[in-house]
Formats: sequence, C-alpha cells, structure tokens
Amino acid sequence: ACHIVWFRNDLRVTDNKALSSACADPEANVLAVFTATPEQWRAHDLSPRQITFIHQNLLELRHSLAQLAIPLICHTVSDFTQAAQWVLDFAQQQQADHVFFNRQYELNEQQRDQWLINQSTSFHVHAFDDALLLPPTSVTNQKGEMYQVYTPFRRAFITQLVTTDYHSAPAPQARGEKLTVPAVSTLFDYDFVDIAPHFPAGEHAARQQLRQFCRLKVKNYSQHRDIPSIDGTSQLSPYLAIGVLSPRQCLNRLLAENPHVFDSPDSGAFTWLNELIWREFYHHLLVAFPRLCRHQPFIEWTRYIQWNNSKEQLKAWQEGQTGYPIVDAAMRQLNTTGWMHNRLRMITASFLVKDLLIDWRLGEQYFMQRLIDGSLAANNGGWQWSASTGTDAQPWFRIFNPTTQGKKFDPQGEFIRQWLPELQAVPDKYIHSPHEWAESNQLKLNYPKPIVDHKQARLNTLEAFEASKRDS
Ligand code: FAD
Repeated sequence: ACHIVWFRNDLRVTDNKALSSACADPEANVLAVFTATPEQWRAHDLSPRQITFIHQNLLELRHSLAQLAIPLICHTVSDFTQAAQWVLDFAQQQQADHVFFNRQYELNEQQRDQWLINQSTSFHVHAFDDALLLPPTSVTNQKGEMYQVYTPFRRAFITQLVTTDYHSAPAPQARGEKLTVPAVSTLFDYDFVDIAPHFPAGEHAARQQLRQFCRLKVKNYSQHRDIPSIDGTSQLSPYLAIGVLSPRQCLNRLLAENPHVFDSPDSGAFTWLNELIWREFYHHLLVAFPRLCRHQPFIEWTRYIQWNNSKEQLKAWQEGQTGYPIVDAAMRQLNTTGWMHNRLRMITASFLVKDLLIDWRLGEQYFMQRLIDGSLAANNGGWQWSASTGTDAQPWFRIFNPTTQGKKFDPQGEFIRQWLPELQAVPDKYIHSPHEWAESNQLKLNYPKPIVDHKQARLNTLEAFEASKRDS
C-alpha cells in the first residue's frame, strides 16, 4: 500500500497525527510531500522571514523523515488550486491508497482541502484535527453556538480539555534503513532572508526552548510577560505558527513542570496556558465566522468608520518615526527581527487605529508582511481586539495613551534605548517625551516630534467611532 502525507502547517515528525496514522501500517510505503505556493503566499501576505523559516524547517523535516526512511518530495506550484491538483495527480501516479493531512482552518485552505476530498475517487483522504488542543466547533455554549466572549469560552474549554486525550505522540518508528539526504539544500526557489539567531530551525530546537521556558521562566510569567525589556515570554510563536511545535507538546511540558496548573489560576503556568487558549479562541472564531477570513470586521457598524488615508502617517508608523518612543522602538523591533512583544503589538496597533485613525486592516497587513510568526487567526484576532472591531474586543472608547503605556511597561526606557540609539543620551525621566528635555536644554534631537497630539487624536477617534455607530 502507498500512503501519502501532505505536510503543510505541521512541519514536525513528533506528535503529528497525519504522519502517525500514515505510519500505523508497518507494510505501507509512506511518502511525504510538501507544496510550495509562492503566489498564494504573496496573496496571503506571508512575510519573507516566515517563508525563509518554513524553508529552514523543511530542510530539518526532510532530515528527520530520512531517519525514518520516509522521503520528502517538495514541489513548487503557484497557488492552492494547483497544489491540490498536483497532490491529486501525484497520488494517482503513485497509485496511492490513502492521503493523510492535518486540517488548516482558514477559508482558502479549507476550500483547497475540500476540493481534493471531492476529487479523490481512487484513494481515501484522512484529515485530522491536529493544530489545536480542541477542534473548532467543539466548544460551544448551551445553544450549540461558538462563544463570542473569551472568559466563558475558556471555562468551557478547560472543562472539556481535562476530559480529552491530549497526550503527545512520539515520532513514528523508522520504517527501514535511513535514507541519504540529497545534497540539494534548496527545496524551493525564493529570495531567502536572514533570520534572527533567536529562532534556530527544527523541532529539536523548538522543544528545547519549550523545556527551558517551562522549567525556568514560566513561574515568573505573570510578572514578566508585560515588560518588553525582559525576555519573559516563550518566543515560541514562530514554531507554533508553522507547526514545528504542537500545542499538545506545550501543554504536556507545562503539566510536567506544573502538574496542578488547571487548579492554580494565579500561577504563571496558568497565565501561560491562558495565552495558549487565546490562540485556540481565535482559531475557533475563524471557523465559526468565516467573514473574519475576508477582511471584514466582526462588529458590523465599525464598517462605516471614516478612516484617515494619510500615506505619510502610515509610513511614519511603519518605519518607527511617529515621535512616540515606545511605538517607534516596537516597530523597529518588528522591522529588524520579525517578532514583536505582545504588549507592544497592542500598543502599536492601538496607536495606528486610535491615534492615527488608520484602518486596522492596513496594520494587520503590514504585520503579516513582517512577522515571522504571522498567523491569520492570531493576527486578525489581535488587530480586531485592538481596533475594537472584534469579538470581546477592547471597548471602542477605551484608548491607550502611548506615553502612559511606555511609562508603565518600560519605565526606564531600557527597551526604547535598545531600538532607538538616537535617544541614548536622554535621561530616564524624559525618555517617553524626549523633546521636552531637548528643548529645555536647547539640544536638537535626531528624532521626530510626535506626529499627532494624543489628546486631540483621541477626541477625533471617539467622534469617528460614534458617528459610525450612529449612522449604521
Ligand atoms: P507567549 O506569551 O509565550 O505565549 C505562548 C503562545 O501562545 C504564543 O507563542 C502564541 O502561539 C500564543 N499566544 C499568546 N498570546 C496570544 C494572543 N493574544 N492571541 C493568540 N495567541 C496567542 N500571535 C501569533 O502567533 N501570530 C500573529 O500573527 C500575531 N499577531 C498579533 C497581532 C496583534 C495586534 C496582537 C495584539 C497580538 C498578536 N499575536 C500574534 C499574539 C501575541 O502577541 C503573540 O502570540 C506573542 O507575542 C508571541 O510571543 P511568545 O511566543 O513569546 O508568546
């Protein structure tokens, strides 16, 4: 028998349901395939860093699969339609009996998979829920509907989770002599970019980082997670986003170090689990409300907001030249590394939408084009939360003050100085309003003055939201 495993967002051999199932029959000839889809990636705004990271992890995956005597065939097409067609043709050519894959929950991805299922007359398709702790549509309220508020979702989620089998499976056994890995070190053509040494490729490195985090950092997570100058979060998002690590592996490691996590709501471990459940929440929402995959706001009336179309202000935000140090430092972190601290994602998103009154979709897109951990569910969820257009979002009349946020979460400007060398000499007291200091000392800073006045901007935004709500 021939079994084909179609790898997509699950670039690992451990705890991979599709791979494990394909390997369950010891006699089967197992082939792994991956389809690179550069046009589709462009249409989905995948960042060059994430594409490079996918490639690096594919090389690692090819190596791990070779140890199991499973070859990885990587084929380049332009988009999802062609990818599904190629898998169909390949399966027929190989006279495959079974094709295995793990589900992806975004709209285009689901359509692609459905097409293959409909066309598969000569083989069986086996699709698995692998990317989340609990599959979408499985956690519902008493009416059988998806929750629209996070806290009751989490409560129901945990109740269900503890009665579910969430063990993580080991890698399948080797199926024969290990294969020699071909010398070619490029699996698809792309203008690859440099990636921060922070994110070494491969599931081994990811698991190591997970282990370290759960052993050393998770206990302080509640106190440290909001301080960008502290390396207090797991930084596992790039691995989770492309499935080099599974959420079950995260949960099991967390439980190994903190067996009572479910009963310790005040612990760092629980706070971290809570973030993993936000990840689930946003994925479940995508499936329950497919309009979220179509650039539409969750809250209908926010569609009518009259956005500010200023290209210069958008550019200043993108480049980290707004004159608000915490915002600018954060944007430079994103531009330089492809990763941004969660607190800063909230601050920069709020600034774009509520201080500049620029359409959140432009911010969402810019993030996606830069992030190494880009994920439609989490990115869209985070943006719609910040923009007050989403489910259980920040209420629209609550507007972060970027200066106060900076003072609160980077009091001495440690993080700011790391990214804004032009503010090196500014004393701590003025690091969040450097021009005040410069002016009183008659110095000239090589740093822009605030591009908007926060107080005024706040009033304008409140008015724009109110008008849209009233007129809808
Ligand atoms: P940790 O604090 O260690 O959390 C562990 C894991 O939980 C993360 O790796 C991530 O997978 C998940 N997680 C944590 N917070 C959230 C959250 N709020 N929503 C969903 N999942 C979460 N996360 C992405 O993975 N991809 C994105 O494209 C993305 N875009 C965002 C955009 C905005 C505007 C905002 C406000 C948040 C966004 N997030 C996104 C969520 C969050 O900022 C990152 O997951 C987190 O900063 C990653 O760092 P970490 O791995 O150290 O997280």
